[in-house]
Amino acid sequence: MAHESPINQAELDADAAAVEAVRRVWGYDELRPMQAAAIRASVEGRDCLTVLPTGGGKSLCYQVPPLVTGKATVVISPLIALMRDQVRGLELNGYAAAALHSAVDFDEVKGIERRLLDGSLNLVLAAPERALSSGFGYLLGKLADAGRLGAIAVDEAHCISQWGHDFRPEYRRLASLRRVAPGVGMQAFTATATPRVRDDIARQLGLQSPEVLVGVFDRPNLTYRVRARRDGAEQASEAIRRLRSRGEGGGAIVYCLSRKDTEKMAGDLRASGIEAEAYHAGLDAETRHDVERRFTNEDLDVVVATVAFGMGIDRSDVRLVVHASMPKSVEAYQQETGRAGRDGLAAECLLLYSPSDVQRWRGLIEKSGGEASAAQLELVEQMRRVAGSVVCRHKQLSEHFGQAYGAESCGACDVCLGETELEPDSVRIAQILMSAVARTGQGFGAGHVADVVRGAQTEGVLSRGHDKLSVFGLLPGRTRRELMALLDQLVAAGALEVGEHRTLRFGPRGRAVMLAEEEVALAVPMGARSQTRERGRAKAAKTDARPLTPEEKELFERLRGLRREIASESGVPPYMVFSDATLREMAREKPGSLGEMIQIKGIGRQKLEAFGEAFLGALRAE
Ligand code: ADP
Ligand code: ZN
Repeated sequence: MAHESPINQAELDADAAAVEAVRRVWGYDELRPMQAAAIRASVEGRDCLTVLPTGGGKSLCYQVPPLVTGKATVVISPLIALMRDQVRGLELNGYAAAALHSAVDFDEVKGIERRLLDGSLNLVLAAPERALSSGFGYLLGKLADAGRLGAIAVDEAHCISQWGHDFRPEYRRLASLRRVAPGVGMQAFTATATPRVRDDIARQLGLQSPEVLVGVFDRPNLTYRVRARRDGAEQASEAIRRLRSRGEGGGAIVYCLSRKDTEKMAGDLRASGIEAEAYHAGLDAETRHDVERRFTNEDLDVVVATVAFGMGIDRSDVRLVVHASMPKSVEAYQQETGRAGRDGLAAECLLLYSPSDVQRWRGLIEKSGGEASAAQLELVEQMRRVAGSVVCRHKQLSEHFGQAYGAESCGACDVCLGETELEPDSVRIAQILMSAVARTGQGFGAGHVADVVRGAQTEGVLSRGHDKLSVFGLLPGRTRRELMALLDQLVAAGALEVGEHRTLRFGPRGRAVMLAEEEVALAVPMGARSQTRERGRAKAAKTDARPLTPEEKELFERLRGLRREIASESGVPPYMVFSDATLREMAREKPGSLGEMIQIKGIGRQKLEAFGEAFLGALRAE
């Protein structure tokens, strides 16, 4: 009598078990859509590539499956500092996890192996060097034979690709793990993958017809601003003060390009009365550790760092990320700004840009001359175009990662907030530039086109007779660099495209823009003439949660105080006790019992038991 059910019961059970685990252990109501799909792939032993932005919730995708299957997951992760934090965080939730890296001694390794084999460990994080050792291969094989290995997860999988922003050649050898554990699914995770990087990951890891899950890249809670850099320290300090004036706490990271720059910036900020510390790979381990610890523990709110910082940092209430100069790629920009607002609350990202940054990157890349330098130069070009254009930043970033962005105006970037200074005569300037590209035959680079319209009698112009063109000298009094920046904007707007050897040709909107049927807005090039006006400043991001009332704010502060006490007693950073988002909800909802408290997002059973009473007490205290 039994009918074939259109719904697969086993699948349904697994999904239900996953959600149940997430409620019990983490206290979240539900899985995000991509998480559910990624967990299902892992539980079913299929290969999968999950691309989720920073803060998108990748960790849960590999942490949950062991709770459903009863088998262990091995996670390859390059970030040792982050590993330790993750293990401590999981243990606080009553979840058994361990990390294998160079700082773990022999006895600990033996203990971890034993626990993996007897099934008392859900998850083990391993550094790539460790994962590629023969001992580890042997262990994996043994686990797989015993039916105890559920999945192999590769975190930060973009490290495998030279088109990614953090290329690590040793990652390429990870495909060999498949051989010791045939039949075990491999799932790759990354936050930053253009379609090209995505393909590279799947190919180089040898994923077998992987399911590819790509989350939504847009981070609506981040407000992006690009400003011409005048005095970096002054602009950074102003942004930090603006943040402080809101009185809701939170951290700030200022990224600089070089070690020396971080020292100078930190010094300048301190001179202006802001407590700030420099952080870079040239500092001794102890100092670095101390800065990391103070930042995560909220004893220090401003860190001035090279990109080395942030890898191991998981403070979720970073409210401001300043780039004191242009990062080396859009991927890097997305990743570094992604450290802001991980709790989902509004945060600001400020990029201080000067065209000289591009020169600096080119010089550095050419000097290092590695195997990936051509790719890296192209990544710099892409970033330059994003920084120099006046297209909605949310839209640009989404599209860079291959996703359409629907909204007309995001309400959370300098362009949509009307803060960029526009060329008053955009339509005519665009027409002239487009005509110049057309008249020179769509076969020249931006520099040559610029020379033609500014009327420069260079050898290149004269030898081709381009001084005879009707567009010659139509935009006098502008520098070559300014005109090139305007051409860049036309590329970003889809009026032009960059062809081979960086030549410019018409893009999809080219004709319409040249004929002035469609308007493009052109911004006054950064670092060109006047300075950007601060119109419509500091409008909060659209998605900002309702600000706390003064009374709630006071309560929030009290809860934070308690969190800090508990954190220092238990020797963990405060965010691991509860996130800011959880404390805010607590301050708003004011739960009066444990039963009400477990309704709050971010509170699972273990934490309810450990901290519930203390927080109820703090809520009651008047
Ligand atoms: P990623 O590794 O992708 O950057 P994380 O795994 O660190 O992101 O998760 C980012 C934040 O989102 C964390 O604070 C995490 O606890 C939270 N989070 C993840 N999944 C969920 C969920 N299903 N519901 C609520 N919060 C979640
Ligand atoms: Zn916008």
